[in-house]
Amino acid sequence: MISVPTYALDVLRQLTHYGYKAYVVGGCVRDSLLGREPADWDVCTNATPEEMLAVFRKFRVFKTGLKHGTLTVRSRGRSVEVTTFRTDGAYTDNRHPDAVTFVTRVEDDLARRDFTINAMAYHPEEGLVDAFDGRADLAARTLRCVGEPDRRFQEDGLRILRALRFAARFEFGIERETAYAISRNRHLLENISAERIFKELQGILCAQGAGDMLTAFPEVMGIILPELASLCSQEAHGDNAWAHTVRAVCAAPADAFPLRLAMLLHSVPAQAHAALLRLKSDNATLRLVTTLVRELETPLPTTRPAMRRLIGRLGVETLQALFCAKQAHLRATGEPEPPLRRARLLADALLDGPPAYTAADLALTGNDLISLGMRPGPQLGRVLATLLSEVQDEKLPNEREALAARAGELCAE
Ligand code: ATP
Ligand code: MG
Repeated sequence: MISVPTYALDVLRQLTHYGYKAYVVGGCVRDSLLGREPADWDVCTNATPEEMLAVFRKFRVFKTGLKHGTLTVRSRGRSVEVTTFRTDGAYTDNRHPDAVTFVTRVEDDLARRDFTINAMAYHPEEGLVDAFDGRADLAARTLRCVGEPDRRFQEDGLRILRALRFAARFEFGIERETAYAISRNRHLLENISAERIFKELQGILCAQGAGDMLTAFPEVMGIILPELASLCSQEAHGDNAWAHTVRAVCAAPADAFPLRLAMLLHSVPAQAHAALLRLKSDNATLRLVTTLVRELETPLPTTRPAMRRLIGRLGVETLQALFCAKQAHLRATGEPEPPLRRARLLADALLDGPPAYTAADLALTGNDLISLGMRPGPQLGRVLATLLSEVQDEKLPNEREALAARAGELCAE
């Protein structure tokens, strides 16, 4: 049922050879039981960090997390994180345990984990250790806290978003008490670092079940993005504005985070940039999403000159993303798609031909103009801009001689 890959088995065997307990644990057990390929295999053990160092003395190891009991072991070219059974001490900052305590029983280690489906351990000879009925919750497609939900979210507010992310990824329902506690404790997210929130938001938005979670927990989204809080009581496109927003998110491709994020923010275009800055978005995402949100508001060009200018302003990649965003928005509103289709055809036809989008595409460069006797400076820039504009308008062919002649006229003026 759970097929542990050889490189992880070697790590288990090395520990059991010296008489220690060892299990694969957490995400890899959950994913195996779901019939999904685990991304990585984590191991937990009753060996202390020092004992692990001795056990793995012939392996390449990285001691990055040793203080918290984690050793990264290289096995057959792969990395396995091996962690001493531990409980987490008090959480005075709602995020980091003040201290970790190493313990001897695997059940005590499983008890510190967030959700029952993440709190199972497995050893090929011993079988499944499932102290919190994670397997039953997997079968019932339910996400449930280990222990008392309020307490677990108060220990670590990030678990609120982790809950939404796992439920969205597997399209699970969230158990009643866990769901109430998520909503009740949502303010704890105010103590969580922007980077971690942004990472979880990505996981939620790009999951299969994103729409269900956004629909079920608008008040949680309103904490991490207060800009969206009022959408629930507004209208958009003859519908509730939040419902419309969620539909637009789901209509964008799931593997394209910037597109999904742009759809999430598209109803508050003036606030999108500030929201992304606050969430500490990476620059590439920030720039793309802000552009998409802004451009979504303007109709697409219907003439060749205007389309050339748009390509020049956005670049080809961003233009393609804008087409996807426009499409998602049309799907969400049910508006007709032919104008978008025509714009795409227009852009493709232009892109198949010779380029004329920026001054760099002109058959005559600034240096050419200087060698023809023009002085460098702002006037030269203006001449190039006029040449580009007239080429884009098809009033002037993009050919050296014609451009040089026209530049001469412009200078004389
Ligand atoms: P993914 O496929 O997203 O990596 P995962 O279950 O492996 O899923 P990780 O964040 O890698 O998730 O964490 C590994 C395990 O550690 C989890 O399965 C869970 O048991 C435990 N864990 C991680 N973060 C927390 C947390 N904030 N609170 C409690 N337990 C946690
Ligand atoms: Mg993991």
